[in-house]
Amino acid sequence: MRALTEKDIRSSFVNCSKGEAKRLHVPRDLDDRPWDDLDFLGWGDPGAPDRSYLVVERQDRIVGVAMRFQPARRGFLHRSMCSLCLTTHPRGGVALMTARRSGPAGREGNSVGAYMCTDLACSLYLRGLKVPETGARFEESLTLEEQIERTRSNLFAFIDKL
Ligand SMILES: [Zn+2]
Repeated sequence: MRALTEKDIRSSFVNCSKGEAKRLHVPRDLDDRPWDDLDFLGWGDPGAPDRSYLVVERQDRIVGVAMRFQPARRGFLHRSMCSLCLTTHPRGGVALMTARRSGPAGREGNSVGAYMCTDLACSLYLRGLKVPETGARFEESLTLEEQIERTRSNLFAFIDKL
């Protein structure tokens, strides 16, 4: 994806208020992010560990999503799979991310959830630039381009539900 600025990111959020988008944590090291190898940018908030965010470019538009995640419960799910990039991680490596829906539905408290890599580094797992703790991505018959396409469409399907 193309490199984004803090301004691009703050103005992209579809499921939080303008005030929230202005205050939320945006990484300081945007210039150093590996944009060429990212299908979307995802990050957490060091000051609020249950929050995470992602932004993706979709048809020349930047779409940002604010999410919360539930840390894995003890004894629950030894391994689980990210619904975006289909990487399997040991417990804690995948989390249920929930995003408040946009508009009135969100104000009424409706949210949408999906299991995702807790570190939101799906793009890097796909490209083999980061290896999951188990060392396990199952053998894919798809090419990297096809896997990227699948990850993007999984993500867009999530965004469409917001
Ligand atoms: Zn993933």
